[in-house]
Amino acid sequence: MDRYVVFGNPVGHSKSPAIHRLFAEQTGQTMDYSARLAPLDGFTDDARAFFQEGLGANVTLPFKEDAYRLCDVLTPRAQRAGAVNMLTRQANGSIRGDNTDGVGLVRDLMNNAGVVLKGKRILLLGAGGAVRGVVEPILEQQPVSLVIANRTVDKAELLAQIFAGLGPVAASGFDWLEEPVDIIINATSASLAGDLPPISSSLIQPGVTVCYDMMYSKEPTPFCRWASEHGAALALDGFGMLVEQAAEAFTYWRGVNPDSKAVLQTLRQEMAAG
Ligand code: NDP
Repeated sequence: MDRYVVFGNPVGHSKSPAIHRLFAEQTGQTMDYSARLAPLDGFTDDARAFFQEGLGANVTLPFKEDAYRLCDVLTPRAQRAGAVNMLTRQANGSIRGDNTDGVGLVRDLMNNAGVVLKGKRILLLGAGGAVRGVVEPILEQQPVSLVIANRTVDKAELLAQIFAGLGPVAASGFDWLEEPVDIIINATSASLAGDLPPISSSLIQPGVTVCYDMMYSKEPTPFCRWASEHGAALALDGFGMLVEQAAEAFTYWRGVNPDSKAVLQTLRQEMAAG
């Protein structure tokens, strides 16, 4: 049986096995995909042991940077992101690393939610691993501006420098932001603690601004609730991003395109039913 896993710690909550199981059923693929808890100080050994037999792996918190260091070959987008969420054992035994988070976000916004990025003013909150992966694919869509705002401003400035050659990207602190924007993407981990990033509601133009929280949960996240309360045109969570990054990996591994929209719908219904 062709074997795939998602590495994380914790990983029991991961929806990746359910997503890949549905993709496999849909496309008639025979494969095994499971969650694998790696020790916090033992990801590299565990991953090498898995790849004695396994074909591919997704990588989630907190191992995306360890995964980047493990790879023999990196795609250009993983190279620039400095983080890897997808590993593949190649025919010669080498490990290839990619970062599909950004493609997942852009496809969810554009294909699932019908949001146009071209010509838009986009604000990205946070400057961690997730942001590193999404800046390049967002800039490829030619927004008029992309501002990366972070609590620790130095980190936002560093990312703006790294990606400066790819498009109109700038850095900011949270409290310098006042003017409304078209799209706000929350990539801070504030929601995990039930908090909001400290930004002004004046950034939302009622009926126009689209808000997107990379975090997802059964109930609307604190950021999505805040967005709806202040009149955002759309308040979306990151479950579609997760499904779309998985679809990108599945297509690469199995050579067939799954119907990601159908899987997203099925899993949202399952989540709502508890
Ligand atoms: P990191 O730990 O790398 O980065 C966390 C970021 O959040 C930093 O910029 C940090 O700021 C900021 N932050 C943390 N707490 C607060 C707070 N209370 N107020 C303001 N800013 C805060 O995490 P990731 O980048 O890997 O993940 C970010 C989020 O994206 C998580 O919620 C994660 O679950 C989600 N995610 C979702 C995916 C999906 O497929 N839907 C894929 C990847 C991530 P500072 O630098 O100042 O510490």
